[in-house]
Amino acid sequence: MAGFGIYGAGGRMGRLLIDYLALNAEHTLSSVLVRKGIDLSLPPETLVTNDPRAFLESAEVVVDFSSPKGTEALLETAIAGVKPKALVVGTTGLDPHQQNLLKDAAEKLPVLYATNMSLGIALLNKLVFEASKALADFDIEILEMHHRFKKDAPSGTALALAATAAKARDADLDSVRVSGRNGAIGERSSSEIGVMSLRGGDLVGEHTVGFYGDGEFIRIAHVATNRTTFAAGAVKAGSWLLRQPNGLYSIQDYFQL
Ligand code: NAD
Repeated sequence: MAGFGIYGAGGRMGRLLIDYLALNAEHTLSSVLVRKGIDLSLPPETLVTNDPRAFLESAEVVVDFSSPKGTEALLETAIAGVKPKALVVGTTGLDPHQQNLLKDAAEKLPVLYATNMSLGIALLNKLVFEASKALADFDIEILEMHHRFKKDAPSGTALALAATAAKARDADLDSVRVSGRNGAIGERSSSEIGVMSLRGGDLVGEHTVGFYGDGEFIRIAHVATNRTTFAAGAVKAGSWLLRQPNGLYSIQDYFQL
C-alpha cells in the first residue's frame, strides 16, 4: 500500500486525485500541501500542511499537478535532500531551467514526468513517430483544444507530440514549430510543424495530429472525456515508480510502449 502526497491539492487535478485515492483501497492519502485553507473532506490521518519539508517527508509518492513555479520549488526542495521515495510530475509549461531541475532531481530519486497521463496519448505519441517517418513528404499540423481555464498554450501534450514528430524527421522543434498564422505570411514551408491552440468551455482535452499529402491525408485524434483518466494514470504510474531505480521516466516507460 503506497502513501501518496498531493501537491496542488486544491486545484482541478488535485481534487480528482484525492477523490480517486479515496475510492482505491490499495493506496492511501498521506499528505496534502496547502497554500491557503482547503475546503475538502480528507481522511483523518492525512497530514495537511503548508510546510514543504513536512509534506515531502510524510509521503512515499508525491504527485504534482500545480504550476511551473510550484514544480520548481518542489524540485529544488527534493534536490536539496528533502524528498519522497518517488515523484510524479504532471504540471505542464515547464521552461528549460525547470526541465533541467527534473533531470537533477532524477539523480536523487525516481521521477516520472508526463504532460499527459493517459494511455491513449502515450499510444498516439508512438503512432506519430511512425507516421512522421513513413509519410516523410506530408505536412504535419497539430490542433489542440482545451477548457477556458487552461493557462499555457500550446498544451504540453501538443508540444510533446510535435517534439516526437520533429525527432522522427531529425528536425529541431524550436526551428520548425509554427504556432499561430496571421496576415500575408506566404506559403507554408515543407519543414514546418504547425501547433495551434483553441480554448473554450469545459472541454477536457482534444488533440488532432494531421498528416497532409497531395491527394490524401490522415488525421489521428485523441479526446479525453474526463480528467479522472489523468488522475488514475498518475496514481498507477506512481505505484510503479516506487519500484524503479533513480532516473527520469516517461509515461511510455510505465505503459511499456
Ligand atoms: P488548477 O489551477 O486548477 O490547480 C493548480 C493547483 O496548484 C492550485 O491548487 C494552486 O493553488 C496550486 N499551485 C499553483 N502554484 C503553486 C505553487 N507555487 N506552490 C504550490 N502550489 C501551487 O490547475 P489544474 O487544472 O489542476 O492543472 C494543474 C497543472 O496540471 C497544469 O499545469 C495543467 O496543465 C496540468 N495538467 C496535466 C495533466 C497531465 O495528464 N499531465 C492533465 C491535466 C492538467
